[in-house]
Amino acid sequence: AKVLVSGANGYVAMWVVRTLLEKGYSVRGTVRSPAKGAYLTNYFRSYGDKFELAIVDDITKDGAFDEAVKGVDAVEHTASPFHFKATDPEELIVPAVNGTRSMLRSILKNGESVKRVVVTSSVASILEARSSPTVFTDKDWNQASIDEVEKHGKNATSAAIYRASKTLAEKAAWEIYNANKGKIQWDLVTVCPPFVFGPAIHEVDKAAALNTSAADWYNTVVNEDNGWKSDAVLTKQASAWVDVRDVGSVHELALSKDAASEKRIIGSAGPFTWQAFIEAAHKVKPNGIANHPKLAKGAANPPTSTQVNVDYDTTTVTKDLGFTFMTMEQSTKDTLEDFEKRGW
Ligand code: NDP
Repeated sequence: AKVLVSGANGYVAMWVVRTLLEKGYSVRGTVRSPAKGAYLTNYFRSYGDKFELAIVDDITKDGAFDEAVKGVDAVEHTASPFHFKATDPEELIVPAVNGTRSMLRSILKNGESVKRVVVTSSVASILEARSSPTVFTDKDWNQASIDEVEKHGKNATSAAIYRASKTLAEKAAWEIYNANKGKIQWDLVTVCPPFVFGPAIHEVDKAAALNTSAADWYNTVVNEDNGWKSDAVLTKQASAWVDVRDVGSVHELALSKDAASEKRIIGSAGPFTWQAFIEAAHKVKPNGIANHPKLAKGAANPPTSTQVNVDYDTTTVTKDLGFTFMTMEQSTKDTLEDFEKRGW
């Protein structure tokens, strides 16, 4: 079977592509320019013609994926900006929403062979601030960030802008799917990961150029000079996390399993404090490692409180799809070794 993966050069997408190739699928990966594709062609060269590139220079244009969807059996739409630097909501919302719409419309037009479409969403489309501890489920939608962006426009926080972009994009996907259901031969699945950490295999030449989530981990656990957080921040729940390799596996399950049909799959390994990652780093590397003389030592007085304010119901992925997530220790060990190999 052949799978189209959009934004194939991204941190998450590279692992999605690699997992699919390892499982025996053929992959057509889209990137914005031939220059961005060269690294992928080289990285996946051992798969021969099972990996091919397609150039889609502007995903926001209607018809952007008209050619790319031809002849594929399934689609994984991952391309979407993830950063907290937006000053104008349009910067993120236009590519997130229009990119999703153009993908689904191209499938409606030219995707006769497509059986399943997986859209990479996020827990950003689920989570809202609550005054008491909450376990969010696949029934929850983040309306608050959409409201904040509508109310404050360019003055909305960059986090609200990102979260609104993901929520609006996922809603657009379900809207198009529901409007066409009955007339089409494919079904929709969305994958909603929390913060994604773990080894990077995409093209990145220095730590400062890491994608948003991996950079946050590096800047907190390894490079304390660059974004060191206060003890109070280190020791309260930061968010929930998942290893990037597990995100790759969950995308493959989302594509291949009947039980995934029409689900929003929350792919979370669990809540985390930064302190827990720092402690995991010291456990797996008790003597530090060569290139990390500054491996963070953690808070002066490690906390005993690990109060969880936000968690996610992961029944679909753990029970219905039978998936088990990687431990924090394993993910930390492999990430540190990846950085060490690169001399970071
Ligand atoms: P990366 O920045 O590594 O990858 C983003 C991908 O999207 C790249 O291929 C990028 O292409 C493409 N992209 C971004 N903006 C545009 C645009 N305007 N037009 C076309 N393509 C664009 O981030 P991640 O791998 O972390 O993110 C991948 C997906 O996973 C996103 O949908 C993100 O929302 C989602 N996600 C990520 C999480 C995380 O913690 N990392 C958590 C939850 C969801 P280019 O290189 O050309 O810019």
